[in-house]
Amino acid sequence: MAEKKLILVTNDDGIQADGLRALAESIEDLGDVFVVAPELEQSASSHSITLDSPLRINDHGRRRFGVSGTPTDCVLLAVHRILDRRPDILISGINHGPNMGEDVIYSGTVAAALEGYILGIPSIAISVASWDRVAFDEAAEAVRELPIRMMKLESPRPNLWNVNIPSILKRDIKGIRITKLGSRVYNDVIVEKKDPRGKDYFWIGGGEPGWSSGNDTDFAAVSAGYISVTPLRPDMTDYEGIELLKEWIVEWQPR
Ligand code: MN
Repeated sequence: MAEKKLILVTNDDGIQADGLRALAESIEDLGDVFVVAPELEQSASSHSITLDSPLRINDHGRRRFGVSGTPTDCVLLAVHRILDRRPDILISGINHGPNMGEDVIYSGTVAAALEGYILGIPSIAISVASWDRVAFDEAAEAVRELPIRMMKLESPRPNLWNVNIPSILKRDIKGIRITKLGSRVYNDVIVEKKDPRGKDYFWIGGGEPGWSSGNDTDFAAVSAGYISVTPLRPDMTDYEGIELLKEWIVEWQPR
């Protein structure tokens, strides 16, 4: 019999998060599920890594481990220390809050999946696109097919998917759309207020954000009631920029 699949689950909302619990429970039958997640919430930690302070691993029992660091720390410790073989898949989430458009750059949820990808592991980041109360068990059920599909993919290289689920009942979800990253428009980026002692303070991201983008984006899919799946890659090269620079180089003469 083939060895059971090894599934690594992590997140950035912390090991106590409801989205993490719901995800891990919903895929329990797909293989050996290990949870390695930050002890404390690390949202918007992006891809930060702890290099100048010690990291602790706390055994929470039942293949669950808390790490005193970031999502990236969790993936590195899981792969190089906690697990005794390479995971067949890494799933990060389910995050409480959307991770679409440029927000994937700040996201600890997406960073954990990206770290998995860099280590050669097929990886999925999953978020529910709402900051309100979320039915995470329904959301987890709605995307169960995605890790199943990813583990069956016969691809010469690992894949990395960023998934956003609309925060509606599972039966109201219209389906899945393959999308590209959209573009967010922030209003009132910095909110300025006075503290009780009359001193100014500032709050980043206070306004209600909007988005401007085409029909083929993550934002458009989620607002139309679809699960959005965006394949990502860490190559930030601007290929059109290369062509532009090449034209300039042809014209350029050393003096
Ligand atoms: Mn989060």
